[in-house]
Parts: sequence; structure tokens; C-alpha cells
Amino acid sequence: MLQFIPVNEKNIFAVRATGTLTHADYQAFLPELEDLISQHGKISLLIECESFSGWDLAAIKDDVQFSLKHKHDFEKIALVGNKAWHQWMALMAKPFVQGEIKYFSSDELQTAWDWLRDNQQQPAPSVDASPLKPYQHIIVAVDFSPHSEKAAYRAIQLAEQSGAHLTMLTVVDDVEFYFAYLDPLDANAITRPYDPELTASLAKSAHKIAQDNLNNLVEKTQAKNAETEISIGSPSTSIISYVEATNCDLLVMGTHGRRGFSRLLGSTAHSVQNHARCEVLMVPLDN
Ligand code: AMP
Repeated sequence: MLQFIPVNEKNIFAVRATGTLTHADYQAFLPELEDLISQHGKISLLIECESFSGWDLAAIKDDVQFSLKHKHDFEKIALVGNKAWHQWMALMAKPFVQGEIKYFSSDELQTAWDWLRDNQQQPAPSVDASPLKPYQHIIVAVDFSPHSEKAAYRAIQLAEQSGAHLTMLTVVDDVEFYFAYLDPLDANAITRPYDPELTASLAKSAHKIAQDNLNNLVEKTQAKNAETEISIGSPSTSIISYVEATNCDLLVMGTHGRRGFSRLLGSTAHSVQNHARCEVLMVPLDN
């Protein structure tokens, strides 16, 4: 599956590849990408490969045809992956792209963004007493647990106070989602061939459930001006990636979520807090 990650920049776009890419994925995605190229001229692209396992044959053909047609339309391509062959992909794509193409490992996601944005390493700014700028874009990450609902109320309050734009983001966990159709009593389930139609229909229904949950939360919390976003992938990586892509200035989340209380901070909370570069507010359920 190919999903666009919303980015707040003129000529930079980002896309996440998960699972096995099919002809249908390219048919849905390439016209949108061609539109962006015709609107913006040369673009830069971040491609995030998360649990990405390759292409079917028709999709390889689509990919090569597209690359040949748009050889001159990319300024920079950052390929962010977590497998050795993702790095090979970047090397193999070089002859098909005239601009720069560079590979980054998943834990270098932020370096990849800096490279695309031409951000040079700046000396640490000196801190003075000038007033802090009010928040402009707040993201609240919700998994529909009571913790994240409380976080949503806090985010709405802060957005109202600072006049910030608010996004409610939920991530459909791709591991939960791909394994949802495996029968635990069926020993052959894990080796069954990849079924793109089944995967696409599961993705569609998971997306619909997530959108319904977001709509209900918007209604319950009366967050009328909130924008809603759905990503598919690992919750922590997808949240960090979304925050980085949109350049938001505050991320609000619950200290725990649907997975319970086994640690001081939940695992998503812990990983996001360690890696996000924006301010992060962790909201406990009781205080
Ligand atoms: P956890 O660390 O998984 O216990 O969850 C802590 C917080 O992370 C939750 O209260 C949410 O704010 C956020 N979170 C966890 N999972 C998701 C998800 N799938 N989508 C969006 N936010 C999430």
C-alpha cells in the first residue's frame, strides 16, 4: 500500500510504502504524484519503507515506466528503510533519476528530512527571555483509549487558547491489521500466499472503522475545527513521521493507551517521547 503523508512544504512530498505493492496501488497513487509534478515542477520526495516487502510483477513494470517518464522531475529522493535491500533499492534507482537519491536507515528519519529541507547543522541557539511563540499546529495522537480521549480534550483546550490548527491522528497498526485475517488454529496460515485483494479490502474496512471512531471522537469532544488523519503502519514510527513531515510544534498523547499499564509510560508513548523533535505533552488519565 502507498499512502501520502501530509507535508507543509511547497515542493516536498512524502509517501509511506507498506506490505507488497501491486498494480492497483500504483494505479491509485501515480496519477496523484503526476498531478503534484505538473503543479510544482521539480519535486523532492521522501519514501518511507515500513514493513515493505516488495512489488508484484505488474507493479515493477509500473515503477520502471514511471521512473523513465519522470527521470528529470525529482530534485532529491530520500529513501528511508530498515532492510539491507531497501538500501540496494536506492542504488538501483540512481540511473533512473537525474536528481540526488540517498538512503537513510529508519532511525535517521529526521536526518533524511533535514537533507530534503536543506537544513544545515545550526549552532545551538542562545536562549533568552523573549516571549515564546504561541503554538501554531497541535497534533493529538489518539487510539480511542480513555487516556487518549483525555489527551484530546487537553489538545482542544490548548488549540483554542493559542489559536492553533488541530489535527487528530490515529494509526491503524499494520501488524494487528495484517494478522487479523490469520486463523490461529490454521498451521498453514502464515505461509499462505499474499492476497492483494483481501489485503486491500481489509485496509479499506480498517480505514473506515478508524474514520468512524475519529468522527465519533470529534463529535463527543466538540472539536469542530479539528482535522482528522489516518496512517497505516507502526503507531510510534507513524506518529514520529507525521510530526516530522508536518513540522507541528506540539504533540499531545496519553501516558498509556489501549495496551494497558504495565510500564511507567506505554511503549508508544516511550518511543515517541524519546524521538520526536517537537514539544511533547503526555497526559495521564487522573490528575
Ligand atoms: P501506549 O504507549 O501504546 O500505551 O499509548 C500511549 C498513547 O500513545 C495513547 O494514549 C495515544 O495517545 C498514543 N497512541 C497509542 N497507539 C496509537 C495509535 N495506534 N494511534 C494514535 N495514537 C496512538
